[in-house]
Amino acid sequence: MTGAPRSTERAAQNYVGGEWRDPAGDDEQAVVNSATGERVGVTPFSDAGDVDEAVARADEAFADWSARPVEERIQPLFELKRLLEAHQDDVAETLVREHGKTFDEAMGELRRGIENVEVACGIPSMLQAGHLPNAAPGIDETAVRQPLGVFTAITPFNFPGMIPLWFLPYAVATGNAFVLKPSERTPFTARKLFELIDEAGFPDGVVQLVNGGPDTVNALLVHGDVVGASFVGSTPVAKHVYETAASHGKRVQAQGGAKNHVVVSDSADLDFAAEQTVSSAFANSGQRCLANPVAVVHDDVYEEFADRVVSKADALAVGDGLDADTEMGPLVTADHEATVREYVETGVEEGATLLLDGRERDDDLPDEGYYLAPSVFGDVEPDMTVAREEIFGPVLALVRADDFGDALETLNRSEYGNAASLFTERGGEARRFRHEAEAGNLGVNVGTAAPMAFFHFGGRNDSFFGDLHAQGDDMIRFYTDETVYIERWPGE
Ligand code: NAD
Repeated sequence: MTGAPRSTERAAQNYVGGEWRDPAGDDEQAVVNSATGERVGVTPFSDAGDVDEAVARADEAFADWSARPVEERIQPLFELKRLLEAHQDDVAETLVREHGKTFDEAMGELRRGIENVEVACGIPSMLQAGHLPNAAPGIDETAVRQPLGVFTAITPFNFPGMIPLWFLPYAVATGNAFVLKPSERTPFTARKLFELIDEAGFPDGVVQLVNGGPDTVNALLVHGDVVGASFVGSTPVAKHVYETAASHGKRVQAQGGAKNHVVVSDSADLDFAAEQTVSSAFANSGQRCLANPVAVVHDDVYEEFADRVVSKADALAVGDGLDADTEMGPLVTADHEATVREYVETGVEEGATLLLDGRERDDDLPDEGYYLAPSVFGDVEPDMTVAREEIFGPVLALVRADDFGDALETLNRSEYGNAASLFTERGGEARRFRHEAEAGNLGVNVGTAAPMAFFHFGGRNDSFFGDLHAQGDDMIRFYTDETVYIERWPGE
């Protein structure tokens, strides 16, 4: 599938101290166009020496950067916003070629990333902490938020244009230096982002890019001059990152995998609920931590909801993400496609009813590339594999519920807790859902519960390890420490 690397082929580079450099490690990962199976380049992995150098340059830059007035620190972010908007089409095209999602999905993802740059431009207000005159007799107290040094973020393949921007703008606006380690499967989207960062006017060393795999990540996590790490990826790696970084004395926030549920009440507008559920389950080919791949449906409306979901899912146009008509692209790699197909087989073996078998459309899809059309399982029991494990592909499981309480119980049995949605026309159910559903992002009559950048992006149970989340206010607290000045002037 991937072949041997050619010396002339495109290779990912690091961006260190304002210069492009080749990583020095021995390992590498092929980068493929998932729509065609064609090898489009390679990610050479950085070794511990590359990491040392990137962190050292970031650490040097931190001293000057953190001392600059906050107003000065946000100017490159305003410029970055302008550049990202001006080059959004170009970045989106690169993203589609290495990831596979549709062009519209890529443009939408980048818009959500740009939103974070916009929010971070407001840091002069967000960075202010408290001041209390006469906190005690003759004593004034003032809290000041201060940056800490070099932070890193390790990001996944599925939103390569957006997820780095959950962290980078806030890290640098608060006065820190930053090292990104993007997914080795989607390095050229990071390259595009960093070409724009290079133009935006950050001093050399403030923002660094280091490509690589697990060893590169581990070198960052144990590095003595890295003060904190953000991670987004699968749950086993999130746990590893959380434990390793914490045991080396770092701040850490680690966002893991998901298996989100949507609850469909007997009062719901079924057509709307079906449309939103299909969009949530199959957008990005199901490779989304906010997808709802399990729908728990009230028994009285189950058949009608299932019919609507199946016909909408079956109608989705599957193909190359760069074709304007495509509504769902391929899966990211051949290995991942094989894993998702195995899950479909497992569902059948465990006795779920395959209401829509995506494999039946194989002959109508391109021979090359990693395509699998949407599948929908009916009569799924909550303890079946397809209801419990993260598949990260276009597979939706429908579970029956006797009533609303039963549906909530099913939802709360999940080991994950990234997001959940409810479709209802009853305020009482919505209120109970808000209080009792165990997930960090809750949507009522919203298919995909994705918070805007000015709210944090939560997650619970095995979907998150740490306390402060990505985006919004939590990022300010993650990237700063509060010093409290207690001041008295006797005799004045
Ligand atoms: P992944 O865990 O395979 O990789 C994520 C990052 O970790 C990559 O940069 C990779 O190089 C690194 N990595 C992989 N294995 C490692 C190891 N053994 N040691 C150290 N580092 C390692 O995840 P992925 O396949 O790129 O992304 C999909 C996963 O991300 C899904 O589970 C999805 O739910 C999750 N995700 C979660 C959120 C969220 O907000 N909770 C958002 C997006 C994606």
